Amino acid sequence: MEYDVIIVGSGFAGSTLARKFAEDDKKVLIYEKRDHIAGNMYEEERENKVRVHKYGPHIFHTNNKEVFEFLNQYGQWYFYEHRVLGKIKDKLVPIPFNFKSLELLYEQKEAEEIKAKLLEKYKDKTKISILDLVNDEDTTIKEFGNFVYKNVFENYTAKQWNIPVSEIDTSVINRVPVILGYDDRYFQDEYQYMPKEGYTKLFENMLNHSNITIKLSTDVLSDISIDNNKIYYKGEEYKGKVIYTGAIDELFHYQFGALPYRSLNLIFENYDINYYQPTSVVNYPNEEDYTRITEFKYLTNQLVDNKTTILKEYPKSYDYKDEESIPYYAIINDENLQKYNQYFELAKEIPNLYLCGRLAEYKYYNMDAVIERALELYKEVRD
Ligand SMILES: Cc1cc2nc3c(=O)[nH]c(=O)nc-3n(C[C@H](O)[C@H](O)[C@H](O)COP(=O)(O)OP(=O)(O)OC[C@H]3O[C@@H](n4cnc5c(N)ncnc54)[C@H](O)[C@@H]3O)c2cc1C
Repeated sequence: MEYDVIIVGSGFAGSTLARKFAEDDKKVLIYEKRDHIAGNMYEEERENKVRVHKYGPHIFHTNNKEVFEFLNQYGQWYFYEHRVLGKIKDKLVPIPFNFKSLELLYEQKEAEEIKAKLLEKYKDKTKISILDLVNDEDTTIKEFGNFVYKNVFENYTAKQWNIPVSEIDTSVINRVPVILGYDDRYFQDEYQYMPKEGYTKLFENMLNHSNITIKLSTDVLSDISIDNNKIYYKGEEYKGKVIYTGAIDELFHYQFGALPYRSLNLIFENYDINYYQPTSVVNYPNEEDYTRITEFKYLTNQLVDNKTTILKEYPKSYDYKDEESIPYYAIINDENLQKYNQYFELAKEIPNLYLCGRLAEYKYYNMDAVIERALELYKEVRD
């Protein structure tokens, strides 16, 4: 077999590892079951020339210099700070909820009183978890916390996950804090940039190396099998490394049952107007069936006259038996993690099989975190 490393999947996990091994003079073969590279970051241009993120909006942000420097080699970036509004009581207010949101939704006197109390109580903080506010012993702060919880978190989370917010892992709720001030950026990270020519081009550059071969539209499971803790490639035992970034339950034929995910129905709409909404993303936590609307021109920085494309995201369940269904968000709870661990134990027994990425590790990873994990894995397993 002429390849030293087989990599399954061409998202950030697979592509980062492919590039690192290729630079180490290893011959790398990538299997990608979709007809394109770039995993869920894939961007395509529509007929109206607007570039869209086919699998939902992806905004890059990180505090990790090594990750940003790694990516910087494969394309130019432009400075982009993400700002989100949310429709609350028929007003568009900044999300994460900040002092401006408070002023827009409360009478002036009451808003001043809440701000003063928050600043006094949480002097040293610039942001705080909503869970701390709802549990605060001060009645004014607690009532404010309940208001934000009800209008920003409760319905949105129930819509997104289809379970009551009380059953959601607190790490999910804590992803969106309450800001104690007027900073209206969605992220506070040091590096906030978007790829100038888009993610697909970035991936093309990353994978453009003479040691990398890519097989598109090919499910690895048609060529690779596992038997007695050995990996077989087209019927022959394979002694090289296999980096697997696909779904772990699929690799082991769902023998302990399927790992649950939430999925999304993504509906794109074109309009012959310059802009549809005032910012790239507007969240709809309450009345509407969709959770948010993204307008891509703000993300791609394109100047396309009188044309725009938006995306509405409707959460839905995931069905692993339906080929069209896409697993987007792992549903993290004790029961599902136990099931994951059963698969993990099987994988551990197989020499030279390495799991990396959101599907293989059944984990929510931001893009920077998955690249960081891939760079670490490379350091651990390179010869
Ligand atoms: C809706 C949504 C929005 C997001 N927005 C952001 C954001 O704004 N910022 C951010 O930092 N992160 C965001 N993320 C997270 C981001 O998508 C992940 O960090 C990233 O996709 C992880 O990369 P990955 O390589 O692990 O997985 P993926 O990108 O999913 O790549 C896995 C690849 O493996 C392929 N594959 C699977 N099985 C097989 C097989 N058997 N054979 C061959 N190929 C196979 C798949 O086709 C896929 O291309 C978002 C996630 C979602 C769901």
